Amino acid sequence: MKKILLFTALALIISCSSSKNTAHNISKNPVLNTINATVFANSITPADLKKHLYILASDDFEGRNTGEPGQKKAADYIKDFYISQNIPSPYGGEDYFQSIPTEHLKPKLKPSENVVAFIKGTEKPEEVVVISAHYDHLGTKNDKIYNGADDDGSGTVAVMEIAKAFQKATNSGYGPKRSILFLHVTGEEKGLLGSKYYTNFPIFPLEKTVTNLNIDMIGRVDNAHQDNPNYVYVIGSDKLSTELHNISEKINATYTNLNLDYTYNDDEDPNRFYYRSDHYNFAKNNIPIIFYFNGTHDDYHKPTDTPDKIDYELLAKRTQLVFYTAWEVANREQRIIVDK
Ligand SMILES: [Zn+2]
Repeated sequence: MKKILLFTALALIISCSSSKNTAHNISKNPVLNTINATVFANSITPADLKKHLYILASDDFEGRNTGEPGQKKAADYIKDFYISQNIPSPYGGEDYFQSIPTEHLKPKLKPSENVVAFIKGTEKPEEVVVISAHYDHLGTKNDKIYNGADDDGSGTVAVMEIAKAFQKATNSGYGPKRSILFLHVTGEEKGLLGSKYYTNFPIFPLEKTVTNLNIDMIGRVDNAHQDNPNYVYVIGSDKLSTELHNISEKINATYTNLNLDYTYNDDEDPNRFYYRSDHYNFAKNNIPIIFYFNGTHDDYHKPTDTPDKIDYELLAKRTQLVFYTAWEVANREQRIIVDK
């Protein structure tokens, strides 16, 4: 019922707007873009994120260690989600895995796989925005399961829900102009192996890859922000493209109003987080990136990183920020310019 009302309202606005200014291309109208994006962003809910995260970070998945049964189970869960949502694979059919042979992993690791889903752009399908998160974690040690709810179950479910929102847009006739690849990488905890493999053997040419938005840990609040948890660390947005940074700022000011914390974007910061998650494999290939991160906390890389400790409202808000930013990058007239 609600959905029908929304789309009726949207149709009314479209007809009013186009009768006022018939020369205006509807897709270029900023007001309509805002309404469209908001309708689909609102399909990203705390409840849906929670539902998926309680499964992926449950003991059944044994900490999702690269190459082990728990990781395979997670890969199947993500794949089944895409099939259930009718979100295609870039390979076609039901083949959602980019298999990584052992020689591209590290000694003693068993073969593993990235999980990929794809929405083809309506106007510039050859240009691709990559939205990524790693779905592996540390596995089980001394009978203790490292559930990895924040690291990086939070990013994993965020990418799934962003994909679902873009698919809803596509089903309603508002598919993105550029293509979007939803990339769930494996082997991050072993040394960014899945993203390294992807960028060495990309499904779509890196020259046509316009931006990578990478999410690694966005479900918690670190010690520095206990008094005002309405934040996310943004890392790398200005390293290659002034334009991407400006878009990120503007989108947040328009839609989500999180405090964007640039502490870890400082080149002098000793944590060097810019080099420590999967986006770096894109950045080193001169592809502009944004890394979204909540900072470390007492449960970081411990068996106590469990789904009951996630702030789902905040996770939804941060996920929506990534969605809106991807929406803008995928739909703007010109591709993001690299100027650094
Ligand atoms: Zn991580």
